[in-house]
Amino acid sequence: MEKLKNNEFNTEKLTGLAGALCACMGIDAPKCSEGVTQDLVDYVMKATNNEGVDRIVMYNPDAIGQWIYEKYYDKFKAFRDNAPYEQKFLTVFPPKTPVCFGSMYTGASPAVHGIQKYEKPVIRIDTIFDALKRAGKRPCIVAVKGSSLSKIFNERNMDYYFEAYDKEVVDKAIDIIKRDEYDFIVIYNQEYDDAMHRTHPKSLWSKAAIKRYNQSFERIANQVKESLTNHNTLLGCGPDHGVHREWYLLGQHGKNIPKDMNIVHWYGVYSKKN
Ligand SMILES: [Zn+2]
Repeated sequence: MEKLKNNEFNTEKLTGLAGALCACMGIDAPKCSEGVTQDLVDYVMKATNNEGVDRIVMYNPDAIGQWIYEKYYDKFKAFRDNAPYEQKFLTVFPPKTPVCFGSMYTGASPAVHGIQKYEKPVIRIDTIFDALKRAGKRPCIVAVKGSSLSKIFNERNMDYYFEAYDKEVVDKAIDIIKRDEYDFIVIYNQEYDDAMHRTHPKSLWSKAAIKRYNQSFERIANQVKESLTNHNTLLGCGPDHGVHREWYLLGQHGKNIPKDMNIVHWYGVYSKKN
């Protein structure tokens, strides 16, 4: 992919993702959605002969910034192999987990969905999960217990699975994909975020977390290919924000700088077999 130039911000806003995912499924966007990432919709429509998709499986690995992807390009092979379409995004400010996921799944800016700092209240505005329910679709969230994604989209009439940590989340997601009972599955992992906050973005622990994210995405992708053969499925891999190291100390995020704000998402389409 094209290399990031120093101090250049991506232009495509993360608030366009929810509208794009809904367009790919042929349903109305959440009510406060501020745009549509049209390139992603075009990719999906082309890959499905304009049919769109009836399943979306989203893997959300926390805190992988674009520069980390570029620096450790070879360590992200499973992301690229299984989801070859790369979509650059500018995440929302401040680049904190609940702020970013709030915008990712409402299509709304932080001032509109209400989370503007590191806090985890239930979002009261319309979300993609509400939009899916109105269209008669079944969404679910599989997340690490206590994480932002285990809290901010709660209190909807939908299924939630909160597990001890990343591996348990992925195990549960594999089981859920096998059963094929949901139209839209969000799967959240956090090891890289934990590792870089405890150490720094390029530490051995952080690199091990990248490796495990890739292994987990590979497992999820393989299960999609095996179990969702009766569907057109969009498989996505979407981090929330990036990361930087503060004065050779710990890893952090929350600043309006390209390292924190620029992210890449990966998408792949798996068409039905019959
Ligand atoms: Zn995060």
